[in-house]
Amino acid sequence: MYRLILVILLLTILYYLLRQMFRGFRGPLPDGQSNSPVQGSEDDQDQMVEDPVCHIFVPRRIALIESIGGREYCFCGKECAGRFRNEHPV
Ligand SMILES: [Zn+2]
Repeated sequence: MYRLILVILLLTILYYLLRQMFRGFRGPLPDGQSNSPVQGSEDDQDQMVEDPVCHIFVPRRIALIESIGGREYCFCGKECAGRFRNEHPV
């Protein structure tokens, strides 16, 4: 019984490995076939932005974006955003 489970497990791992390999070979999917509805904005979300306080680079999708004094700033977290606001009163 245990052997059967082991074989199924191995096949599953093999399946995922092969899928990953094929995905790598094909590269990015052409337009229309990808699952993401908006490709352009997705690239934008992956863009790395610099935190002006601690100078850490964070992907735009997880960055805390605050509009301070008409400009947009990207922070790694609330702590840095708060510090930036204190240093730059509008
Ligand atoms: Zn920071």
